[in-house]
Amino acid sequence: MAKLYFRYGAMNSGKSTGLLQAAYNYEERGQRVLLAKPAVDTKGDHEIVSRLGVTRAVDVVFAPADDVRAAVSAAGSADPESGRLDGMVRPVSCVLVDEAQFLTPKQVDDLLRIAVLDGIPVLAYGIRTDFRTEAFPGSARLLEIAHSLEELKTICRCGRKAVFNARLIDGRFVFDGSQVAIDGEDVTYESLCANCYLTESGGHLDGD
Ligand SMILES: [Zn+2]
Repeated sequence: MAKLYFRYGAMNSGKSTGLLQAAYNYEERGQRVLLAKPAVDTKGDHEIVSRLGVTRAVDVVFAPADDVRAAVSAAGSADPESGRLDGMVRPVSCVLVDEAQFLTPKQVDDLLRIAVLDGIPVLAYGIRTDFRTEAFPGSARLLEIAHSLEELKTICRCGRKAVFNARLIDGRFVFDGSQVAIDGEDVTYESLCANCYLTESGGHLDGD
């Protein structure tokens, strides 16, 4: 049975690199993959950019109101390389979703349907929590319903495992603001462990 996988981690935990590696592994075996991502992303909506400098165009971009299952089905039935197999459309062996935290919960439900009802494994990669330590809606739903959860690890400046993504504006930590940064602000992020996050926030957490 095909499954829905959620591979999550803090920023800079190599999610996009892992996704592109997984795509390569399928294709090395002659299998076809579909690369997808939600439209809300400041890094560019139509490509997957890994920190190692590898970039690849996505096959499907999901707008917030899109029916993800229908979009994947439509993309799957149009195979740009079908000429290689006497015009046959090659079946999709895996759907790979980058920036999955930006999916709506309803779209994540569709990912489970794609896996279970359509028989296509879905690998979703994303960030678990925002800079306030709150789950992104898409990630919350993935944590609820994915068959398999795998944490991708990255290291805090102190050497512990980083679990949070602290936001800096003009180089200073901020702990309030919108979940998705507003364009025009000089926003950066640092992946921190809980100890360093609480040190920087003065002990504040968003549940307070
Ligand atoms: Zn730390």
